[in-house]
Amino acid sequence: MASYDVIIIGSGPGGYVCAIRCAQLGLKTAVVEGRETLGGTCLNVGCIPSKALLHASHMLHEAEHNFAAMGLKGKSPSVDWDQMLSYKEDTIGQNTKGIEFLFKKNKVDWLKGWGSIPEAGKVKVGDEVHEAKNIIIASGSEASSLPGVEIDEETVVSSTGALSLKKPPKKLVVIGAGVIGLELGSVYQRLGAEVTVIEYLDAITPGMDGEVQKTFQRLLKKQGMDFVMGAAVQGVETLKTKAKVTYKLKKDDSEHTVDADTVLVATGRKPYTDGLGLEALGVEMTERGQIKTDDHYATSVKGIYAIGDAIAGPMLAHKAEDEGMACAEGLAGQKPHVNYDVIPGVIYTHPEVANVGQTEEQLKEAGRAYKVGKFAFMGNGRAKANFAGDGFVKILADKETDRILGCHIIGPAAGDLIHEVCVAMEFGAAAEDLARTCHAHPTYSEAVREAALACGDGPIHS
Ligand code: FAD
Repeated sequence: MASYDVIIIGSGPGGYVCAIRCAQLGLKTAVVEGRETLGGTCLNVGCIPSKALLHASHMLHEAEHNFAAMGLKGKSPSVDWDQMLSYKEDTIGQNTKGIEFLFKKNKVDWLKGWGSIPEAGKVKVGDEVHEAKNIIIASGSEASSLPGVEIDEETVVSSTGALSLKKPPKKLVVIGAGVIGLELGSVYQRLGAEVTVIEYLDAITPGMDGEVQKTFQRLLKKQGMDFVMGAAVQGVETLKTKAKVTYKLKKDDSEHTVDADTVLVATGRKPYTDGLGLEALGVEMTERGQIKTDDHYATSVKGIYAIGDAIAGPMLAHKAEDEGMACAEGLAGQKPHVNYDVIPGVIYTHPEVANVGQTEEQLKEAGRAYKVGKFAFMGNGRAKANFAGDGFVKILADKETDRILGCHIIGPAAGDLIHEVCVAMEFGAAAEDLARTCHAHPTYSEAVREAALACGDGPIHS
């Protein structure tokens, strides 16, 4: 039995970042992880493998669609799926080994196995019970399904199965037009699959700025993705290696079916807290199965904290990381703060989509007077040269004070561009502050500046 200042359960971006910060602050720290490798959902079956497949399939798209126009002629590459999967596995391995290295460097112990909390101050891993002054639960989330839909991870898959298919499907049905469904749908669409996305709501990517939703759906349709909107999936029938998806259209209650080689169920994720023993401990939960915490990530049981996907808030790796750092700093006596108003969201399709802060719909509902500065990538020289002129940057600023309230980008490198606006928002900047900052030419970032200029006297290039 070993004794620690902190034991963290789960080594995803919440848990591993928290552990490193705890160690940096002088706390004796261990992480319990039941998987074979560190890094949680994000590194093993989430952010990292999906981005590897998005990158590889995007390269194919570029070769097929844009190379010839740039004078790069010749045979277009063909898909070696096994090699693509091994590239993905290699990327995962490099990242998970990286966390192992960081644990050694920072003297964080990895307690291998599945952990439970028999009582506050104790963590059981296998037959061993370890003592901890503080326990942090960072047990993450798992895919959720729909009634009537059984995931077998072969024909009917969650995102985890979709990242390791035996071969790319010819016909893929994606249930759910959220971030994960559209990213993985894009991968297989680029690899040649006919992709149909079935969504219950009338708009894709719920919660996103309405104008971005419309442009995004239009661009995905242009790439060949098919959408059935306002449709409630009734069930999925599997017949050996094929599946039949039945759905009802909400507008007229009519029933339809669509065939597929693979069905991806991407209807969301739910917190994973199985086996921890939370009920016996009396840890309070929310109605949605999340662990209830206060502003300092403390649960209802003294000495037990929780962070990341297992608690409320957006299920994002960087949100989990920030909570991990803040929780560690709080335990070390500091006064950390996570600003939940400035957490960016990114969709890594092509074009990318990124947002931070409020949408126009939210501002309208709140009755806030605002102005819109918008700039299309078509007016950006770099984007035009790179066949990336689709999309726009939209900045929302307070009508009176000019303070930036939100930013919504669809276009090239949107996921990187958004951070300039995040920093500006953290500093309480006005759109004019961005507009008066010199931006290098020719960069995509100039489109952000132009959108900021559009909040004032107007952009130059439109
Ligand atoms: P997790 O990463 O889920 O890690 C929890 C870990 O705890 C797991 O390894 C689990 O094995 C371990 N664990 C659980 N219970 C126990 C126990 N009792 N004992 C021992 N170990 C335990 N987010 C982004 O921000 N950007 C993206 O691009 C992105 N892409 C995604 C793509 C996909 C396909 C998926 C599924 C998710 C994606 N996400 C993305 C979401 C992101 O992965 C999660 O928000 C993030 O991983 C949450 O981190 P976490 O530390 O809370 O938990």
